[in-house]
Amino acid sequence: MRLPAFLPDATKAVVRTLDSMDLERAGVEGIVVNVLHLSSKPGASVLRKLGGIGRFMGWRGVVACDSGGYQIYSLASRSRKLGTVSERGLRYRLPGDTSSELLTPEKCIEKQFQMRADIMFCLDYCTHPNAPTEVQRESVARTVEWAKRCKQVFARRVEALPSGDVRPLLFAVVQGGADPDLRRRCAEELLEIGFDGYGYGGWPVSSNGTLVEAVAYVRELIPASLPLHALGIGKPESIVRCAELGYGLFDCTLPTRDGRRGTAYVSVDGFAGISPGGSFYELVRIRDDRYRRDESPLDDGCDCPACRGYSRAYLRHLFDSGDPTGQRLATLHNLRFYARLVAQLQARTGSFED
Ligand SMILES: [Zn+2]
Repeated sequence: MRLPAFLPDATKAVVRTLDSMDLERAGVEGIVVNVLHLSSKPGASVLRKLGGIGRFMGWRGVVACDSGGYQIYSLASRSRKLGTVSERGLRYRLPGDTSSELLTPEKCIEKQFQMRADIMFCLDYCTHPNAPTEVQRESVARTVEWAKRCKQVFARRVEALPSGDVRPLLFAVVQGGADPDLRRRCAEELLEIGFDGYGYGGWPVSSNGTLVEAVAYVRELIPASLPLHALGIGKPESIVRCAELGYGLFDCTLPTRDGRRGTAYVSVDGFAGISPGGSFYELVRIRDDRYRRDESPLDDGCDCPACRGYSRAYLRHLFDSGDPTGQRLATLHNLRFYARLVAQLQARTGSFED
């Protein structure tokens, strides 16, 4: 997979409204699935039996698997009934489930092997950026301890892999909130254990919408030769900024969620003004009345099915009529926009290093 790459979230083994062939046609090279949701439905053992997540969903590209740490943090911040932390791991209950489950670091890796993920993530303990220092300290201590336990299970499972099977990669997540000392300690201890790659953990955006300083700092802490995943970072200008810093992997629900809501990312002048602060794209609200008679495509520079085959007027009509085809075409277009954006960044990587 060429870097930087944008991996759409296929949390439940599907990017809503699209199938795997659509993703391939949009130029997507990898997806991110979620260990929690897939353990609940269809179940990790079912996926193992069916040859793994890629075969299950007819997807030939890379599968990265989220450890579930962030999701349990979100559940826990809603209610202690939905998520709690202990030394053993994270206990959670997904909405709609009747009983809770304990996700230990060991189980987290076992399940990712059952699902045959290509990029696996260690279980981490995510916190709120404004959480007190003692909570951030606990988050770093547990994240490092759990990463150690994940690595042990991973090493055993890799040894037992049948010959010819491709060895997956194991990534660890750097926590530490806004405290540079804690971020450094977390990165150093994880580097000492040794992983194939790392992830930026925690909330990446400040209240004014810009990236927090820790994002740049974590890249400085991890040697440039090792890939770094900007977990949850996905605004186009943030991707450009992070790629400039040396981040290689991105995932975010933004383009797909926005597509379903009728917001399209449209390139300006063929990405000529590409820069973290540049105006290289605009947002088109497809439902807007001004497109009622607009015969032009969504994006002149785009080769996706929505832009090749249909006018803004027709897309607007689909959204206006509440037909799911509108959501599907807008999602396809947004993913194609992201694929075109990262292709531009791949071509420019050399200049970033200058
Ligand atoms: Zn398009």
